Amino acid sequence: MDFFDKIGDRIVSASREVSDMARDVSDSTKLSYDIRKKKQDLDVLYKDLGKKYYESNKDADDSKIVEIRELVATISEMEAQVAGIRGGKPCPKCGAVVPMDSGYCNKCGSKFDDSIFEEEDEEKTVDEGESEDSAEAESETTEE
Ligand SMILES: [Zn+2]
Repeated sequence: MDFFDKIGDRIVSASREVSDMARDVSDSTKLSYDIRKKKQDLDVLYKDLGKKYYESNKDADDSKIVEIRELVATISEMEAQVAGIRGGKPCPKCGAVVPMDSGYCNKCGSKFDDSIFEEEDEEKTVDEGESEDSAEAESETTEE
């Protein structure tokens, strides 16, 4: 009897250990998940902060800032190219292509003031536009 009692105790304590271990494992899985989530939040904050820092230190000589400045310039050139191909202009704020005569961006809602577009005197090569809204555009242009 004594023997079986001891065996029974051992089994009980062994299974308790197993369930403790299982709980530990699931706790650590949950913790790892939470840590990963928090790190993602941290990354977003770092990114926001970095962007703010860049905005207020645009002219600095720091190599990262120079790199960002060059990338920003390249991206806006490319956006201008895309906009040109699509017969529009890029929103200076978000880069979305908007119609040439648009007064605001239909993506980010920025209002345009024509002075923000540094356009050189544009050659009027868009006479026979193939764009869908060319009828609308033509009605405003009086050609001779
Ligand atoms: Zn925009």
